[in-house]
Amino acid sequence: MRYYSTNGKAPVADLRKAVVKGLAEDRGLYMPERIQQLPAAFFESMGTFVEVAQAVADAFFGEDVPAAELHRIVAETLSFDCPVREVEPGIYALELFHGPTLAFKDVGARFMARLLQHFLVGKDEVHVLVATSGDTGSAVANGFLGVDGIRVHVLYPKGKVSPIQECQFTTLGKNITALEIDGTFDDCQALVKAAFMDEELNRALRLTSANSINVARFLPQAFYYFWAYAQLKKLGKADNVVCCVPSGNFGNICAALFGHRMGLPIKRFIAANNANSVFYEFLGTGEYRPRPSVRTIANAMDVGDPSNFARIWDLYGHDVDAIRKDISGATYSDEQIASTIKDCFARTGYLLDPHGACGYRALKEGLRHGEVGFFCETAHPAKFKDTVEGIIGTSVDIPERLAAFMNGTKQAVSLPKDFVSFKEYLLTL
Ligand SMILES: *Cc1c(COP(=O)(O)O)cnc(C)c1O
Repeated sequence: MRYYSTNGKAPVADLRKAVVKGLAEDRGLYMPERIQQLPAAFFESMGTFVEVAQAVADAFFGEDVPAAELHRIVAETLSFDCPVREVEPGIYALELFHGPTLAFKDVGARFMARLLQHFLVGKDEVHVLVATSGDTGSAVANGFLGVDGIRVHVLYPKGKVSPIQECQFTTLGKNITALEIDGTFDDCQALVKAAFMDEELNRALRLTSANSINVARFLPQAFYYFWAYAQLKKLGKADNVVCCVPSGNFGNICAALFGHRMGLPIKRFIAANNANSVFYEFLGTGEYRPRPSVRTIANAMDVGDPSNFARIWDLYGHDVDAIRKDISGATYSDEQIASTIKDCFARTGYLLDPHGACGYRALKEGLRHGEVGFFCETAHPAKFKDTVEGIIGTSVDIPERLAAFMNGTKQAVSLPKDFVSFKEYLLTL
């Protein structure tokens, strides 16, 4: 498969280059030249999660990765389930938080780690640099943990990530190093960017990024949309399915839209935003107006210029009406998110996290007669323990997996925020 850039000014790339480079030379996002349809028969008898995902992976990556290797990568990635649970009649939660860091980014990070390893075998050690404000760092660190030939350096702003988030990438050891930067998230990101631009560093080390716009991180997210459909079908609930995705950078919903193009029988989509409502407004006005993000209690969706908008825009041939036919939007304030968590818990006993709450509410408000819907529950509520406890007024149990991180010993290299120190550190590796 060849991959073109959404900006149209970079040469087409093969899968290996798209995965190793991440972003095209013209700063555009890579898109596959073709999207293969799955035959109708596939949707009639779908098999297990891993089998379903292997068939989807074949369609995306089968030309470029030998089948046995690709199937192994998928099976290793999906060592946990993504079950659908009925929250109330007609409304299902697709629970994406049963992986190592209890959020959906585990799927993409685990897949990408293995695909990158496949493309790099027998070569020099590779250094992955990733800046994080919290969640991405934990998913990437855990996704790459123990993967031979790859060393991960997670840069995070000192004192600005929650203790639960911090322990998920500072206690791992092995091939994961946490770098505690005396600065902000923006400083961390600037250091990573500067490192990729620095010629001397790039001569000395093989550097790559595990950014969420990487095709190897975003496309595998399609796996669980097919699996959601398979589960609803078993329940006899697969006609007129609506899919609602709490969205920030729009990678997750974009993967669902790719699934749709492959023939996944989903009737329509809802993109649920917090107060960062650039996409919602775009659907209304037809104009895309990015702006700085605002802080909310659903902070993994605090994005003012969603990078995957470029992919959606490209996928729909730059036609806002075509997008409106498939996708509607919603936006919620922190007060609305809080009241949704409280209400849903009181009525149904199902505890939402602040991101899933946006999805649940948009689905509940948007579902029409005769439709069945599912929303992505993108993280476990315990990841946002303080917020959620403040809203429901009772304590939230921490799952064992999360507690295990918190019992580990924090190990981090402290660095100032200037590039010279960061570069010196990298050159000692
Ligand atoms: C990253 C994240 C989102 C947003 O997903 P996008 O792919 O960026 O739209 C939503 N919820 C949680 C918990 C996340 O970590």
